[in-house]
Amino acid sequence: MEYEVIIGMETHVELDTQSKMFCACSARFFGVEPNTNVCPVCLGMPGALPVINKRAVEFAIMVGLALNCKIARHTFWERKSYWYPDLPKGYQISQYQYPLAYDGWIEVDVRDLSTGNWSEESTRKRIRIRRAHLEEDTGKLIHVGDKSYVDYNRSGVPLLEIVTEPDIRSADEAYAYLSALQQLVRYLGVSTGDMEKGAMRCEPNMSLRPKGSRELGVKVEIKNLNSLRAVRDAIAYEIRRQTALLARGEAIQQVTLGWDEARGITVVQREKESAHDYRYFPEPDLPPLEVSDAWLDELRARVPELALSRQDRYRRDYGLSAYDAVQLTSDRAVAEWFEQVVACAADRETSAERVRMRAKAAANWIQTEVFRLMKAHNLALSDIAALRVQPAQLAQLIRLVEDQTINLNTAKQVFEEMFESGADPSRIIEARGLAQVSDEGALRAVVAQVVEAHPSQVQQYLSGQEKVFGFLVGQAMKATKGKGNAQVINRLLREALEGQRARQ
Ligand code: ZN
Ligand code: MN
Repeated sequence: MEYEVIIGMETHVELDTQSKMFCACSARFFGVEPNTNVCPVCLGMPGALPVINKRAVEFAIMVGLALNCKIARHTFWERKSYWYPDLPKGYQISQYQYPLAYDGWIEVDVRDLSTGNWSEESTRKRIRIRRAHLEEDTGKLIHVGDKSYVDYNRSGVPLLEIVTEPDIRSADEAYAYLSALQQLVRYLGVSTGDMEKGAMRCEPNMSLRPKGSRELGVKVEIKNLNSLRAVRDAIAYEIRRQTALLARGEAIQQVTLGWDEARGITVVQREKESAHDYRYFPEPDLPPLEVSDAWLDELRARVPELALSRQDRYRRDYGLSAYDAVQLTSDRAVAEWFEQVVACAADRETSAERVRMRAKAAANWIQTEVFRLMKAHNLALSDIAALRVQPAQLAQLIRLVEDQTINLNTAKQVFEEMFESGADPSRIIEARGLAQVSDEGALRAVVAQVVEAHPSQVQQYLSGQEKVFGFLVGQAMKATKGKGNAQVINRLLREALEGQRARQ
């Protein structure tokens, strides 16, 4: 029998604000000495009063808008009561009845760059978002040997919980959803999205059912997934495990699973437990949250154009391939840098055809030379905005190649120097005497010399060995120290050789 997997995703995203959700302690706690980034509010001392972090609310609303959600205009905070050593108050301030954002969707691209199975066809899928609400993070338990320690530095960091509808149908789709969400929070600049550092944590819940069936199977939850890869591997493993059990007629247990990365298997963390009663009730120490029209408009204006929309635009306006469009939009800073190059490379007089040519050239330069040099300097893609070389300078370089002032090989040398020093390409070309030789008289003399110096190769060419032509072009380029205009050399050499043939 064939089975179908139904997956829903619950993700917690730490918001990258300066201070915590309800106090003035820093929200950036990574690598800080344990229990030094705390105050009476985030330690849950009796009588300490919380104050709402406006920036965190703004970030949450921006994510809600980017996820095409409705935004609750009047909402309030609630206490979610449970006891755990990392939760000093004995409750978490959260939102239950009226999440800040609800009823949205995200479009994800199921294509995977890393597998190399690249297709130009669109593989987009819409995944509905049920809700996104704001709450506070807990402290952290650290287990060493038979002792457990608790660090409250993270206690009270703003946390956005995002819950999907059960629309995900494979491990690859789960991976695609999570990378899209990660890219979205990074585009918005509201979170680092680093799963490895716990800034984004996800818990998939999944069940299998016979294909075509309307009933849902027994649901399991997977925890402790600290990378995108772990999410895909854990789900793929669970699909295999449950399919095998069902095929043998065995029942699936309703459990909470953990992912053992080293062994590549899921392990039972908790057996089925009775549903929690969190005794939610309105938080008496905080006022309700009101979102005005003006505030919402202001936040809407702060949501940038997202990756998929940019991809569509690059393909439509510049004729870029899907692959190039995906690469250039993987990071917002790269997309913006590319767009600046294109803007600088064209003015109102530039024809649409030429704009497309220059945009394609810019796309190639960025994906080859720019990325190569950034990698060699250990820079992340997001560092592109801080490079010495400016988008306008790459635009100049592209035009210098286009009008044949320099050839592409020389341009690569020039670019390396631009990358190091930030100097203008025209200055480098002048200082180093790199301008391309297109003068026909000079090149004709070079070609004549080459023909004379290589009589046997010339004979080979004349007897039909076309590949010798490339060798002769190479000799001519060498004679011009690489500055000869290859197109002109090609034409003149062809003329010289055919002239010899006619004379034979
Ligand atoms: Zn605090
Ligand atoms: Mn939560």
